[in-house]
Amino acid sequence: MSEITDWRQRLSTLKVPISISNNLMLSACLDKLIETGRLSEKDGMKLMNESSLIGVTALADMVKRSRFDDRVFYNRNLHVNTTNICVLACRFCAFRKGPKDTNAYELTPEKFVERISPFASGIDEVHSVGGLHPDWKVDEYSEIFSTIKKHFPWIHIKALTAIEIIHISKRSGLTIKQTLKILQEAGLDSIPGGGAEILVDSVRDKICRGKESSEEYLEVHSIAHSIGIPTNCTMLFGTVETIEDRISHLIKLRTQQDSSGGFQCFVPYPFLPDYSRLPEAQLATSSEVVRIIAVSRLMLDNISHIKAYRMNLGDHLSSFCLNAGADDIDGTVGHEEIMHDAGSKTRLDTPESTLIKLITSSGSRPIRRNSTYDQFSDVEFEHNSLSLPIVSG
Ligand code: SF4
Repeated sequence: MSEITDWRQRLSTLKVPISISNNLMLSACLDKLIETGRLSEKDGMKLMNESSLIGVTALADMVKRSRFDDRVFYNRNLHVNTTNICVLACRFCAFRKGPKDTNAYELTPEKFVERISPFASGIDEVHSVGGLHPDWKVDEYSEIFSTIKKHFPWIHIKALTAIEIIHISKRSGLTIKQTLKILQEAGLDSIPGGGAEILVDSVRDKICRGKESSEEYLEVHSIAHSIGIPTNCTMLFGTVETIEDRISHLIKLRTQQDSSGGFQCFVPYPFLPDYSRLPEAQLATSSEVVRIIAVSRLMLDNISHIKAYRMNLGDHLSSFCLNAGADDIDGTVGHEEIMHDAGSKTRLDTPESTLIKLITSSGSRPIRRNSTYDQFSDVEFEHNSLSLPIVSG
């Protein structure tokens, strides 16, 4: 079992740090979480504006520990993108290319398999998203997924964003449900959740006009949940949204989860500005990143896992977030384009041993997981030890 069942009961037994007990608002939030498990939109705004970031992160860490104790999860995965050709041009996106761009590419099923092959024996998940290809329909994606499964039947395929699914279904003349069922049959196991950006349409209109509406994003995920495809959900922050928009985003995800229940993990990440077209973006600071991880943990009582996404946050900040409410540090990844095209400097040759160190250095216990968080392996590791020189007088 990944989660301690009665987290609220356990929360009531944990020692309360002074940064919470000395703060009326945080103490009231703790009481409310113990009593009901759920904070209001107004509480969310207070947490976003609370001057004691240490207190907010301490509360989020308590909730994380009440659910998972000192465990932090990671997996062995690989990112492979299908194509960078895209008919849209979201202003925050540094990845997309026009069809005639010299750096445009599209992978055939065989090329996709070639990309996986060197990693195949050491991974159990492929994460794959891409642009909105002007010509591809459901058949091209089905062919890619079934070819992957034929060569590597043990690999879980986590693929496609909501807007890709909408685009494929329109191009194929199918409903979303028909499209998802065909893709599921071909090997699609789960959906990673990218493309949520901020689920407020006035913000979407400024940063990604032409993309799906907030309602459409949630509808695609709801349909996926209804046919047994688990999904993740995300938030891109630090563009033009307000604090209210961030909280509204969290509340919309929570409401959706109440009704369809298939979100496994929430992945918030800040906008990275290189090669994008959003000069007015209010870039998020590291403190804002940490606060959003913490507030997400506190507001999303019905989404079990909060991920500190290494590819965007960087290894060091991700490791820090493990004491601010995050319980997952993402995977080995091996190859990544979307965040790196936008300026990420996170290393791509990070071995599993380094992931384990990022986790243990935060005082946590590393647990390797599968993609659906229902199989776990304890990992052998040595606790960091600091040996101090003996000074003799
Ligand atoms: S974010 Fe996705 S949909 Fe938007 S331009 Fe980039 S690849 Fe295309």
